[in-house]
Amino acid sequence: MTSKDYIELDEKYGAHNYHPLPVVIAWAEGCKLRDPEGKSYFDFLSAYSAVNQGHRHPKIVAAARAQLDLVTLTSRAFHNDRTGLFLKKLCDFTGFEMALPMNTGAEAVETAVKAARRWGVEKKGVRNGDQEIVCAEGNFHGRTLAAISMSIDQDSLVNYGPYVPGFKKVPYGDAAAIEAAITPNTVAVLIEPIQGEAGVVVPPEGYLKAVREICTRRKVLFVCDEIQTGFCRTGRRFAWQREEARPDIMCLGKALGGGILPISAIVADREVMEVFTPGTHGSTFGGNPLAAAVGIAALEVLEDERLDERAESLGEVFRAELSKVRCPKMRLVRGRGLLNAVVFEEGFEAWDVCLALRDAGLLAKQTHGNIIRFAPPLVISEREMGEAIAIIVKTLEKIR
Ligand SMILES: *Cc1c(COP(=O)(O)O)cnc(C)c1O
Repeated sequence: MTSKDYIELDEKYGAHNYHPLPVVIAWAEGCKLRDPEGKSYFDFLSAYSAVNQGHRHPKIVAAARAQLDLVTLTSRAFHNDRTGLFLKKLCDFTGFEMALPMNTGAEAVETAVKAARRWGVEKKGVRNGDQEIVCAEGNFHGRTLAAISMSIDQDSLVNYGPYVPGFKKVPYGDAAAIEAAITPNTVAVLIEPIQGEAGVVVPPEGYLKAVREICTRRKVLFVCDEIQTGFCRTGRRFAWQREEARPDIMCLGKALGGGILPISAIVADREVMEVFTPGTHGSTFGGNPLAAAVGIAALEVLEDERLDERAESLGEVFRAELSKVRCPKMRLVRGRGLLNAVVFEEGFEAWDVCLALRDAGLLAKQTHGNIIRFAPPLVISEREMGEAIAIIVKTLEKIR
């Protein structure tokens, strides 16, 4: 079968809830992908930053293989000999006291919302049903009903009502707007430290620190969605660390699964996490032994290979080289670490640029029509980065 045949199968039998770039991946390793015809590409999306450790990292694959021969799923009705080790590792890595494992990122967000609402009643004295959460315009928190109820993106929202109430939306990057939206019923402020899906929107310096200060002063939980920004992507283990704006709850996902399994979690200190008691929340697959083994290896790779430092230094190189590009349609290059975007003028269709990049051997995807995100696996070598930058520069300079 050819790439064309595989694409036809997807189109015929799959719901059309995505519009993928016309390319088929049949093999992957590190930061490289290959199609069925044998053409090779740099991966500059990393499955939306779920593959920070690179495709099929040998250490993570070995951990999965070993665990497949022992036990893979028990549910949380019984203990197993992996989940606790994973939770400890995750707490050590993040610096929080407790963790609650789920599977997808959207479930981690859902878990954080539930934790905050319950905390609001049990620790702050808000009446059940009155809890409010302040969130930011332009956010992406996943696809569940609660997550889309926080969204302002029409595609994500339309005809899915009734929406989950209790969310107040304020402009992103504006700490004063958050302060003004807080009422005695507010239980949490939920934001991304950098808005990934919005096009790598980096908030003004001091924003996260200001949000932290406001939340502390107004007795509101600061919830940080680090699902895309976390695990070394932005040049720190977590993006809030750049301003030392430690949240009360952190939502984690994507790279926690090492590019192998969907693994997500929230982490928090005991004072917050203790609002969950037996029967009040759960997941059949959350923290399963296979996921736990993979999660431990995924965290060890980030640590052992110092991928935060790699992302920081290669990110500097990337932005420096890209900002020298001469392209009349380009407006700016922005990002932190290896989460970057090129923004074109309003109305410009970046889809054709993605097709040209594909033909030149590099895969990236536009967001919001006129923005292309560039986020390679963090294990990319300096030499590979040089080659990839050359492809991007050459392609961008051809745009008229
Ligand atoms: C991807 C993402 C999610 C949702 O994760 P899923 O695993 O797709 O459910 C939530 N928040 C942010 C910031 C994300 O980037």
